[in-house]
Amino acid sequence: MGTEERPQKPHLVCIPVPAQGHINPMFKLAKLLHYRGFHITFVHTEFNYQRLLKSRGLNHLKGLNDFRFETIPDGLPPDNKRGVLDLPAMCTSMPKYCVTPFRNLILKLNASLDVPPVSCIISDGVMGLTLQVAQELGLPEIVFYTLSGCGLLGYMHYRELVERGYVPLKDESYISNGYLESKIDWIPAMKGIRLWDLPAFLRTTDPNDIMYNYNIEQIEIASKANGLILNTFNDLEDEVLDDIKSKFPQLYTIGPLSLLSRQMPETELTLFESNLWEQDMSCIEWLDKRDPKSVLYVNFGSLAIMTTQQLSEFAWGLANSKYPFLWIIRSDLVDEASEVLSEVFLEEIKGRGLLIGWCPQEEVLKHRSIGCFLTHCGWNSTIESISEGVPMICWPYFAEQPTNCFYICNKWRIGMEINCDAKREEVEVIVKELMEGAKGEEMKNTAMDFKKKAIEATRPKGSSYINFERLIKDVLHLGL
Ligand code: UDP
Repeated sequence: MGTEERPQKPHLVCIPVPAQGHINPMFKLAKLLHYRGFHITFVHTEFNYQRLLKSRGLNHLKGLNDFRFETIPDGLPPDNKRGVLDLPAMCTSMPKYCVTPFRNLILKLNASLDVPPVSCIISDGVMGLTLQVAQELGLPEIVFYTLSGCGLLGYMHYRELVERGYVPLKDESYISNGYLESKIDWIPAMKGIRLWDLPAFLRTTDPNDIMYNYNIEQIEIASKANGLILNTFNDLEDEVLDDIKSKFPQLYTIGPLSLLSRQMPETELTLFESNLWEQDMSCIEWLDKRDPKSVLYVNFGSLAIMTTQQLSEFAWGLANSKYPFLWIIRSDLVDEASEVLSEVFLEEIKGRGLLIGWCPQEEVLKHRSIGCFLTHCGWNSTIESISEGVPMICWPYFAEQPTNCFYICNKWRIGMEINCDAKREEVEVIVKELMEGAKGEEMKNTAMDFKKKAIEATRPKGSSYINFERLIKDVLHLGL
């Protein structure tokens, strides 16, 4: 092929952190950008790519000329059990071992006459290693932080928490002695927040804690990128977003991506989701048979792990509430392999409880029979729930999930928090309150109002829609 025949579309390289909650929104964004005329290279780790090959669909996508997949190694030692993501190991290994493979990948793409030269990198906000490569090769980079604005603003204050002497905690007793209840009154955009509600990596006594320091470093690297994308919308987090803009003036709030994606026609590519677990579609048929708003949906995302005791308390709380429920129990949800859900329990929930390993979550949340969502408050789950007007019961697990929970319960008032060591009685009471109590009713109405605002934001003339158009224009301009 002669050089004159080299494809000339603008070419974006999209690279997420290799975890489900990062891959999903990056993939949605990549599909939208592809729909708008960009050539896309989507980068997975070798391990995840192999997992995806096993799931339905990826093989068909291999035939697409202008949406291609590439891989890099994750740098983890071969004996690391990658199934349950080992975040500290990943945050240590990737910056060390992935820079060279990523640089080689960009050089290979640039040398290949089969694809257009790379115009811009769209990288995960916590994959700072890519910015080093972008700068070396003179390429622009835009970062996509796949978390909430409030979560990001929490991380943006991590350094100040150290300077003000809050972190590291003096000793382990500070985690449970009420210290974390301290009000943080010096972040004006987060009025009423407590130390407990800020991203949970701060609950450490170690000044060298990997996750704490990694997050500080990543914010500093991300601030050198050409722009920042967030999967949120202005009406939801206006105050927080104004504050973020002071550090990241080129801010593109383009969420909820699940709604913005509806502007694309259905094709093999747009319908394809990158699930690392096999989806069990039987739940949709099961939901079809239930009454409107009668089902409680329970899902703790892709990373949360619970003890057998916690699982058992949730199980009996759900059973005793007497509501129909759909509960997603990943094969690796519980920290010990044992038969935790007894025959007695399974007998008790017969006909009204469905337990499966992985579901098409967005379809589930959209289903008319869903009444509320018991969630770990991962940002994707939260924004997907908001997009469908479903109120939440919050069981934040780690990272910025407590911050999301604080906003869900105290600012947006579309959910209720449940104790991290909740007993079955508490689970039962809170489920009943949200499903049929007066507070629940109010939250359902407020959740529907937010749904309307989210739809509005992603329609032509809406803030996210306009920001997405601006992003496209700026990316084209940067890549010239
Ligand atoms: N998800 C899904 N089916 C499941 C569980 C999760 O499709 O059974 C998707 C969910 O829709 C979301 C992502 O996986 O897009 C989980 O991301 P989130 O930020 O909520 O949590 P994380 O897994 O990162 O803790």
